[in-house]
Amino acid sequence: MFDYHAFFDNNIRHLKAEGRYRVFADLARKAGSFPIAYDYDLRKDVTVWCSNDYLGMGQHPDVLRAMLEAVASYGAGAGGTRNISGNNHAVVELELELAALHGKERALLFTSGYVANEASLSTLASMLPGCVVFSDACNHASMIHGIRSSKAERRIFRHNDVAHLRELLEKEVPGTPKIIAFESVYSMDGDIAPIKEICDLAQEFGAFTYLDEVHAVGLYGPTGAGVAEREGLAHRIDIIQGTLAKAFGVMGGYIAAKEQVVDFIRSNAPGFIFTSAMCPVIAAGLLASVRHLRVSQEERRKLHARVADVKALFKQAGIPFLDAPSHIVPVMVNDAVLCKRASDRLLEEFSIYVQPINYPTVPRGTERLRVTPSPLHTDAMMGELVEAMVTVLGVGQKVREAA
Ligand code: PLP
Repeated sequence: MFDYHAFFDNNIRHLKAEGRYRVFADLARKAGSFPIAYDYDLRKDVTVWCSNDYLGMGQHPDVLRAMLEAVASYGAGAGGTRNISGNNHAVVELELELAALHGKERALLFTSGYVANEASLSTLASMLPGCVVFSDACNHASMIHGIRSSKAERRIFRHNDVAHLRELLEKEVPGTPKIIAFESVYSMDGDIAPIKEICDLAQEFGAFTYLDEVHAVGLYGPTGAGVAEREGLAHRIDIIQGTLAKAFGVMGGYIAAKEQVVDFIRSNAPGFIFTSAMCPVIAAGLLASVRHLRVSQEERRKLHARVADVKALFKQAGIPFLDAPSHIVPVMVNDAVLCKRASDRLLEEFSIYVQPINYPTVPRGTERLRVTPSPLHTDAMMGELVEAMVTVLGVGQKVREAA
């Protein structure tokens, strides 16, 4: 008989031996004290340096007020799927706001950014007849999962390599439906896609463009609509996908596109139809967050200034990081065991939380500590981070000795 116990046990032992067994810190964020959280394992306050609540909007007073008022007005839940329970008005309002944010006719909410990608790509690619999907080699698991489950033909182009994409497009029969799926800001290296060049190719070869702006919405562009907005290219993207769980600070995901495209996905995607809708309390908080970030430049300005400060300090201290053109600062350790050890020491000795990033999130041998500065990290916190990094990584001594 199959030994289930041994199978599960072996798997976990294997993960531990490779140094990539995931341990999550038991943290309670403190409203009003971002980026401080209480660590229940270590029984002390820690400074979080790896949150994807990039702007601290999860604790913004406007967002909290809107959610408290919504609980009082609507109660807690969504009441089920939209098929069963209809649309909560707060959800309708949020979709209108997101469509306006991206300059698109319609938006459609999902329970997460993952579900938005999986549901939209699997539906499009499985239903467009003979569809071929062109997917960037570094696309997020949610896009890969959606494309795979569609069973459509897929071609993987080398990361951000427009020449390779062209080569692959040229091999297809003209008239075949094609989707080019890519991200604007890649979350692990922090690099940015050549969006214009990809749109040019899409136009030349008659391909549909699907852009994941998960790590860009709220953060880039004059109204926080993402990199496509910043570069004046949003109108050339057929579907813009985003999350509401990172810069917008709460949770959920969405797509924004032409009315007909949204209607098609709304009407056919199991990941939309057969799951409960976003609850109105969350939608109300998000409406406040999106509205605030469409107007306010303050959070974006401070974020990018802090990122520049952290990078300058890291450079000075000899801390090895990928100097990417975004707000993500990956400190390279390149070894799973050392990366986990460095992260543990940061937490235990310096009360700094930066989780290790290991395979399969990044390729083996490129393990890293992914630092995400926010507008709310202070000068003192930055100083502590640099000192702690220098100690746990054993870097900087060389710099100091050479000086
Ligand atoms: N797309 C990318 C590029 C991501 O990095 C993530 C999550 O980290 C997602 C989609 C999924 O978004 P969510 O966390 O809202 O499910």
